[in-house]
Amino acid sequence: MKESIQILQACEDVQESGLIFGTWGNLSVLLENGNILITPSGIPYDELREEDLVICDMNGNVVSGKQEPSSELKMHVEIYKARKDVKAIVHTHSLYASVASSALNMVPLLVEDAAMVLGGNIEVTSYEAPGTQELALEVVKHLGQKNAVIIANHGQVGVGPTLDDAILASVMCEKSSQLYIKALEITDSPRVLSDEDVKKLSNVYVSHYRRLRDFKE
Ligand code: 13P
Ligand code: ZN
Repeated sequence: MKESIQILQACEDVQESGLIFGTWGNLSVLLENGNILITPSGIPYDELREEDLVICDMNGNVVSGKQEPSSELKMHVEIYKARKDVKAIVHTHSLYASVASSALNMVPLLVEDAAMVLGGNIEVTSYEAPGTQELALEVVKHLGQKNAVIIANHGQVGVGPTLDDAILASVMCEKSSQLYIKALEITDSPRVLSDEDVKKLSNVYVSHYRRLRDFKE
């Protein structure tokens, strides 16, 4: 299945981008038939094979696969239910997003690339235990219509219409967390982009950069 190849490649990409620590984190894609292809729970990324991936339905039942699906399956299900534009999800415990997840209530956006990709300031959820429906609903609430959210005392989630977009959202979430934390070392009041400017930048991304990429493909 082409989606299995894509997800295995994406697992390599997130590892190379330094977003992953140990086996924590998970990736999924929404299949055309409405099922979810998701990484298994607790298996090292560099050992993953096509047969380790799991297919689940929107009720969280395993449709096929020998391994246990990711323990954050409920979160993936709720995001797909809430956001019809989202077809791929990347959850990581990346370093600076984890710092922000423990020390901040929000990561405001400071630079254009993050504004273009994420479409709004990154909210931090309230704390909920991993793998729970409560965590899933908190994530959906604070993700809203944007492309990244930080999970309190835990990590972050990036979403998008493709796996590449979801990885990019995760990378921008990590970069934005690092930038804001570094800026706070220099000043108490970093110059943040206004909501209006973020909206304009995000429109430029959709109408210009994503169109260029789709044209190339
Ligand atoms: P897995 O169960 O997918 O290994 O996930 C670990 C994790 O990130 C829990 O939040
Ligand atoms: Zn996690």
